[in-house]
Amino acid sequence: MKILVINAGSSSLKYQLIDMTTEDVLAKGLCERIGIEGSRLKHRPIGKDEIVIESPMPTHAAAVDLVIKALTDGDYGVIKDMSEINAIGHRVVHGGELFNGSVIINDEVKQALVLCSDLAPLHNPANLIGIEACEKAMPGVVQVGVFDTAFHQTMPKEAYTYAIPYEYYEKYKIRKYGFHGTSHKYVTIRAAEMLGKDINDINIITCHLGNGSSMTAVKNGKSVDTTMGFTPLAGVPMGTRCCDIDPAILTFLMEKEGLTAAEIDNILNKKSGVFGVSQLSSDFRDLSEARAKGDEKAALAENMFMYAVKKCIGQYMAVLGRVDAIVFTAGVGENNAEGREMIMDGLEFLGAKIDPVKNNRRGGEFEASADDSKIKIFVISTNEELMIAKETLALL
Ligand code: ADP
Repeated sequence: MKILVINAGSSSLKYQLIDMTTEDVLAKGLCERIGIEGSRLKHRPIGKDEIVIESPMPTHAAAVDLVIKALTDGDYGVIKDMSEINAIGHRVVHGGELFNGSVIINDEVKQALVLCSDLAPLHNPANLIGIEACEKAMPGVVQVGVFDTAFHQTMPKEAYTYAIPYEYYEKYKIRKYGFHGTSHKYVTIRAAEMLGKDINDINIITCHLGNGSSMTAVKNGKSVDTTMGFTPLAGVPMGTRCCDIDPAILTFLMEKEGLTAAEIDNILNKKSGVFGVSQLSSDFRDLSEARAKGDEKAALAENMFMYAVKKCIGQYMAVLGRVDAIVFTAGVGENNAEGREMIMDGLEFLGAKIDPVKNNRRGGEFEASADDSKIKIFVISTNEELMIAKETLALL
């Protein structure tokens, strides 16, 4: 049973071919600069060197054709022909309130995705183009949509409603949706296994800390609150995103600096976060390095981030009442041992105590809590592609 996982962006398309009998990745790759001059495919059959194919890709359909060629190539391919692919799982960013789980894609679903595009104008149309390109290239193969928002559809109304006139929810569906759901779900399933408990019995806090970051309160295996909101701009500070700030800052800055809506949107999404504060980098490795050399703004950016994550852990402890585990995942969560220590420092009184020796590791899956910590602290490498493939398999 082989499943192709596709993550289509506006000018890129990532893929992984996974053998579900072993859960091994057979090949993965990335089409870059689709529709732009200089497009290329980077293809890596696992266990072999990456190859780069420079070839025009005017459309996503052309990119999918090239991916098929690479996967079936005599030298660097991993399958004989496309009939070996049993299904395709697509990452879809926004399912709005219409999807609380993964679905097999048909015409009705595609129409619903168009309706949700208003909520994610940069992502959903690209996801849909990827789906249609695959339909064209591999007619008859089952395609499944796996939504970033679906895991959070279990949030109660008081957690997802914003304190603005209710008519805007009714008119435009403005509410908290939450994102990174595939990752939060994956680490929740793994945490239940590591705790040796039924998923429906676990209360955990999942911290997906990367370039984009979000945290989720998981009660009885279900998301009951999360930090990202109507869009992925909200929550704890990120690489370049401003996250939770006083909304009055927007109108103040627009007036003072004469900014348009598009300009302020660009500042909040691309020029803020730890990059904006440090005026140096969105990458935590650069910040740690600069901090060690005495850069105060880099230190401030790091401190702000760690403080926000710690504060949110406290909030979610209050939301959950009982917490079995705190889980760290994604680029920063998995790799930044010092950051995890900074975040957990001072939370011992709540029953969460990190062990600096056990914590001093990178990636993989391990427990970082002290033996006498009431709450387990886990580091779990996220695997959104495998989660998408599993969801796809479950629907077959
Ligand atoms: P994305 O949200 O783009 O998927 P990732 O989850 O890949 O992001 O996280 C990327 C971030 O992870 C980088 O910006 C970097 O700050 C951080 N990171 C990756 N490796 C390390 C490391 N070894 N030490 C500290 N931070 C790291």
